Amino acid sequence: MTNPAEKQHEASLSGPSAAAWYQVTLSAIGDAVLTTDLEGRVIYMNPVAESLTGWVAAEAYGRPVEEVFRIISEETGQAVKQPIRQVIETGLVRGMANHTLLVARDGTRRPIDDSAAPVRDAAGEPIGVVMVFRDIGEQRDRERAVREALEYAESIIDTVRDPLLVLDADLRVRSANCSFYRDFGVTREATEGRLVYELGNGQWDIPELRSALEDVLPKDDTFRDFEVTHEFEGIGRRRMLLNGRKVRRPGDGTELILLAIEDATPTWRSGVEFADNRERYRVIVEGAVGFAIFTFDTDGVITSWNTGAREMLGYTEEEILGENFRIIFTPEDLRDRQADEEMRIAAREGRALDERWHLKKGGELFWAQGLVMPLRDDADELRGFLKIIRDKTEERHLQDALRKRTEQLEEADRHKNQFLAMLAHELRNPLAAVRNAIEVSARTGSKEDLQWSRDVTARQVANFSHLIKDLLDVARITEGKVQVNKELIDAVPVVRHAIEAVRPILAARKHEFQSCVTSTELRLEADSTRLEQILVNLLTNAAKYTPSGGRIELSAGAEGGEVVFRVRDNGLGIPADLLPKVFDLFIQADRSLDRSEGGLGIGLTLVRSLAELHGGTVTATSDGDGKGSEFVVRLPAAVGARARPAGGGDAAASGARGFRVLVVDDNADTAQGMAKLLEISGHDVRVAHDGVEALEVAREYRPEIMLLDIGLPGMDGYELATRLRQEGWCEGAVLVAVSGYGEERARDRSEAAGFDHHLVKPVKFDTLLDLIATFQRP
Ligand code: ADP
Repeated sequence: MTNPAEKQHEASLSGPSAAAWYQVTLSAIGDAVLTTDLEGRVIYMNPVAESLTGWVAAEAYGRPVEEVFRIISEETGQAVKQPIRQVIETGLVRGMANHTLLVARDGTRRPIDDSAAPVRDAAGEPIGVVMVFRDIGEQRDRERAVREALEYAESIIDTVRDPLLVLDADLRVRSANCSFYRDFGVTREATEGRLVYELGNGQWDIPELRSALEDVLPKDDTFRDFEVTHEFEGIGRRRMLLNGRKVRRPGDGTELILLAIEDATPTWRSGVEFADNRERYRVIVEGAVGFAIFTFDTDGVITSWNTGAREMLGYTEEEILGENFRIIFTPEDLRDRQADEEMRIAAREGRALDERWHLKKGGELFWAQGLVMPLRDDADELRGFLKIIRDKTEERHLQDALRKRTEQLEEADRHKNQFLAMLAHELRNPLAAVRNAIEVSARTGSKEDLQWSRDVTARQVANFSHLIKDLLDVARITEGKVQVNKELIDAVPVVRHAIEAVRPILAARKHEFQSCVTSTELRLEADSTRLEQILVNLLTNAAKYTPSGGRIELSAGAEGGEVVFRVRDNGLGIPADLLPKVFDLFIQADRSLDRSEGGLGIGLTLVRSLAELHGGTVTATSDGDGKGSEFVVRLPAAVGARARPAGGGDAAASGARGFRVLVVDDNADTAQGMAKLLEISGHDVRVAHDGVEALEVAREYRPEIMLLDIGLPGMDGYELATRLRQEGWCEGAVLVAVSGYGEERARDRSEAAGFDHHLVKPVKFDTLLDLIATFQRP
């Protein structure tokens, strides 16, 4: 049942051209073909067989096959039985064998695949053997190359420190490297062959990974640095960087995916930490209210600037960044290289503390306490500095004020001590003079000596009382207790009295004196006693501080709305440094005690206080050493009603008869002295020493004027006055209180007790006479 084509084929093979057919066919195929007869002698070789064996067919014909080539075992190198012989012996086909080497004529060895089969005639009888073989050297090389490539790839994969997965195209894990198993704590069994998303209980089923593998990779064949932050079983929260790439497997070219997993957790964490630290730094620096905090590099160029710095120094961040921090130093500090010094000390000692003046943006200075610290990098390399500043201006001012105050107090203390020394001196001298005078009067019978003693005593007592009066006044002034009894007066007689008072000292020092009163009347609201005190003090000073034979002038007149008194001398003058404080308490020009001009440094203080109590001023001018001085007192002038003549004549001089006066004082000497003086002035006087006696005497004597000491033993002056006022005869009498206290309260009390007048001890006799002169006879 053969078809026509087969028939034709068979015919061609069996026909006369059959040998030619075989020849051509065999020489055309790529494998080597060699045939032998049943003895194993070569009868045919095709060209491939020629080339593999190294024989030319014509030469090989008729030779036993063993002569043409040898077959040895690849493993042992030993000759193995020729496949042709095996077929001859067994009559069976020998299938493809390998792991054998063909040794060619020149000794070349080639790995071959070979097979052999019997050739039979038409009757089926074996007539020979055919052996087909091929050089598998190249194939072997190729296979080795693939194997080596795979081994190479695997060794690389295994040595890569980062975990690596090799996935099939269907995303199943083909293999993983050691790092993967180690880092993720999984076994090979639980990994290989699994879908990547199933790994570790599905913990790799991460959206980022899906998108990388399924969206990016098919398009781009690769993806880089896909960030995944994920909570992994057993190893916690991690930041992974995924890198993927499609690769072809060497040899078969299967498509694979390499998935490299970089654990970026440490850098990520330190990044987070760094950001955290930065933030913390920022919060601290920004939150440090009242502190200027800024950094600068080693050249001093400012690199950061906090809000505190902006507020304290006035520069905004934009303005100051890039500027040199020397901008806040004063030119003096820069000249002294203080900025460099700060950096140097900070770099060397780890910190530099300082207090100095710094400059704000507008040039304003502020006192700053500063701390500079070096900034070093991880390699301990100096990178710059941090400076912290606190504004201490207020404290500095307080300190300055405190220092100044302390200095003032020390100076005041010095003046006080000087004052005490002066006081002792002031008291000792007149006391010595009085003691001498008493000694003289006790030992002498001479009238002149007695007179001299009296004069000395009188003068020194006058000095004493002046001194004590000033002292009391100054005490009152410092306690704010000085009272002035202002009334409308004419100052012209006051000026006259003042001149009279200083006449003796002017005369003693042989000064030329000139006074000039430019008006007939100078009306002002003043306490005439106090005004006189002002003028006397100024004139006395002029006399004291002008060398003998000097020139002293007093002028008084109206200027604008003021009454102005000028006392000028051509004496020592006042040094410029003393001038501004000459009116301060205990202030005196330098002079040694023994050259003292007398005085306690309180006269001018009184003058100023009294002038101010009158609503006026006093000023001093001097051209300095030896050029004389001028003191000018300005008091507001009064407008309106005629002034009452201040001071003036005494009772006796007024021509009228004297008053009946009762003097009550528990100090017998004082009472007696006052009585004598009044009597000399033409009055009729009685004396009592306590309240009871006073009442008795008064009832009988009916005095017109009564001078009552307030501080009487038993019944005091107030009570006595009240009792007296209760007696009908006393209605028209004038009651004068004599008190050690002059303040408002004491005066009010006197008035309430029925007194008409209140005089303060020590009572100046002239004042008393002036007062009496104003009384109308009942
Ligand atoms: P005192 O005269 O008791 O020292 P003052 O208060 O009256 O105290 O005067 C204070 C100081 O002022 C005097 O010690 C003296 O140095 C200076 N001074 C006052 N008046 C004159 C003057 N007319 N000429 C020169 N110095 C004067």
